[in-house]
Amino acid sequence: MEKNVFSFDGTTTIKSAIHRPEKYDTLFNILAKGNFIPRGAGLSYCLASADEKCASIDSKIFDRVLSFDKIKGLITVEAGMNMGELLQIVMAANFTFPVLPGYPKITVGGCIAFNIHGKSQYNIGLFSKYINRLKLFHPANGEIECSQINNADIFHLTIGGFGLTGFITEVELILLPLGGKDILRSKVMVKILAA
Ligand SMILES: Cc1cc2nc3c(=O)[nH]c(=O)nc-3n(C[C@H](O)[C@H](O)[C@H](O)COP(=O)(O)OP(=O)(O)OC[C@H]3O[C@@H](n4cnc5c(N)ncnc54)[C@H](O)[C@@H]3O)c2cc1C
Repeated sequence: MEKNVFSFDGTTTIKSAIHRPEKYDTLFNILAKGNFIPRGAGLSYCLASADEKCASIDSKIFDRVLSFDKIKGLITVEAGMNMGELLQIVMAANFTFPVLPGYPKITVGGCIAFNIHGKSQYNIGLFSKYINRLKLFHPANGEIECSQINNADIFHLTIGGFGLTGFITEVELILLPLGGKDILRSKVMVKILAA
């Protein structure tokens, strides 16, 4: 059924069908028909995950942790997990994920598709730097695994690819050790000199 869909910045409203499959076989059946755009939390400023000419496939129900290697600092999650939840889970095990967007409901899939920046990209880098491998469903190929080694061209096209290479189902992320859970604050006085 079609409904009104808005961009986060409020400049665009369209009517579009949004599917919310709850199981993988339903998801793959819908994806196999093609003509879709994956949807995360729908929090992009532009209307990146909906269009009048195709259906949006909502990923938010697919939000589980699939594996967590606490020795290597690697976590595999479904793409619909949001960044706030991810951070809670990894912090409880004394890890952190270094590239965080400015709102916790944004999904991992949305972060990959926009190759987002955090708040200190000058020394930490972009989201792409912390993706070890991902799985992607495309109607022509089914579900394939991509990394710097396997299907590397699709891997690189998918990161920052606006959801146009297929539906990301899962991703293995590289974590960093958490230095501590306290924040040190200091006050810096700045003298503004008159010109
Ligand atoms: C308050 C706020 C703060 C923000 N802060 C930052 C920031 O600090 N840094 C920054 O870089 N950006 C920031 N953004 C922008 C935001 O991180 C990106 O637009 C992000 O892509 C939104 O993800 P989403 O889960 O809402 O996905 P959507 O908006 O639904 O979709 C975004 C894109 O991801 C694709 N996509 C979603 N899920 C999948 C999937 N499973 N498989 C394949 N493609 C998929 C969609 O097709 C679409 O192209 C912010 C946005 C807001 C509203």
